[in-house]
Amino acid sequence: MLFRLEHRMTGILNLPGLNELGMKELDAEYHVKAEPAAISRLCPHCGELHRVQKHGSRSMFIRDLPTHGKTMMIHLDVPRLICLACRKTFMAVVAEVDADHSMTERLVRWTGRQSIEYTYAEVAKQVGVDEKTVRNIFDAYVASLEKQFQRETPIWLGVDEIKLGRFRAIFTNIHGRTLIDMLPDRYSTSIERFMNSLPNKEQITHVACDMWRPYRQAAQRVLPQAKIVVDKFHVVSKANASFDAVRRSIGKADQKKQGAGLKKAHKLFAKRAADLDDEQYLTVSGWLNCFPLLATAYDLKERLYKVYEVETKEEAWAEYLNWEASIPDELAKPFRPVKTAFRNWKEWILNYFDDVRITNAFTESFNSKVRRVYRDGRGYTFERLRAKVLFTDRLQKRVPIQEKVKVKKKRFEEISMGRMTYFMMPGMLDDECEVKTKTRQGNLGTDLPTLLAILDTDGF
Ligand SMILES: [Zn+2]
Repeated sequence: MLFRLEHRMTGILNLPGLNELGMKELDAEYHVKAEPAAISRLCPHCGELHRVQKHGSRSMFIRDLPTHGKTMMIHLDVPRLICLACRKTFMAVVAEVDADHSMTERLVRWTGRQSIEYTYAEVAKQVGVDEKTVRNIFDAYVASLEKQFQRETPIWLGVDEIKLGRFRAIFTNIHGRTLIDMLPDRYSTSIERFMNSLPNKEQITHVACDMWRPYRQAAQRVLPQAKIVVDKFHVVSKANASFDAVRRSIGKADQKKQGAGLKKAHKLFAKRAADLDDEQYLTVSGWLNCFPLLATAYDLKERLYKVYEVETKEEAWAEYLNWEASIPDELAKPFRPVKTAFRNWKEWILNYFDDVRITNAFTESFNSKVRRVYRDGRGYTFERLRAKVLFTDRLQKRVPIQEKVKVKKKRFEEISMGRMTYFMMPGMLDDECEVKTKTRQGNLGTDLPTLLAILDTDGF
């Protein structure tokens, strides 16, 4: 049987953009001599297309994907052209070659993908370039992913933070349970820039955030229509922190006796009393019996949750005032942060009771798991971890989104003309418009439940 070659031979490179002229194989390297199969003659200075002439050439060494375990170097003569219109010279553009990086485009793409999985040093060694080159390719690759993974703007926006080296702002879609973005810091300028970048940001009705003033101020400025709600979780965790301060100081003062184990019992006490199993309950009550002040502090921490067990703002505030009045003098100091929070953030804490009861609590397990991965010594930088968390394809939550669009009614003469009918103008008279429902695929962001399951495996 005869094989007929339908396509031009592309040789060992398999790059249709290059004609191979010869090849040399060394121990660890392939060297291929090639010439461009076609070049672009477009003048980058003035846009002239046809009036260009060859004006010398330049030898380039282009790195390609390793082949058969060997480094691949392409020796390429690229013509220099002169534009007869503007008299400027320029290098011809060769298909599939990234002249800036002296690499084939496919190697640049491969390097980009690798730079999310491995450290810059590891990738640099694999590809045979320096770390700075890998970092540049990574930055460009992430920028292209950001365009590719455009997220839907949520109705309920969650603003939280995670401490990875320093505090980083994170944004969630509360209803969709997805992560939308992570910023390198939590400065108000960064937060405002992010909020401003959200398409159709007017559709955000609620913002749930922590008690960090720049979050609130940014939301007030950029999303004036949205109701700001202090996240419930962050309110009750203030009382947890106060209780913890009491626990530590009692433990410290009584290191030799019963207090000895107290210092390490953080996790046990962080649980709600109702969530303790029998053994844990006995342990906790043993300590509480021993230290009456610890018992009072524990009771305060548990009772603060009552503020959230009522129906209205008024009832909630009354519950809070009851709670505040019950703080004994000895505990005034450790519990002061709770008091300050309620006094400074009253309006926004109570907004929780207004209509929808939104909370961002599910991001907390995300926080602890991502922090663990970050600390694990897998060489993650914030940028790399961010890229992997945000732009891994299988983690995307894609949903069909129905949109109502106003379209101009087709009139008789337009139907006959065909081309005229694509106009969609805001402010057209209603009798000229009709509303149609269109369905498109939307991306809500990184699905947090899926991400959490994967963070638990070593595969991340
Ligand atoms: Zn020109």
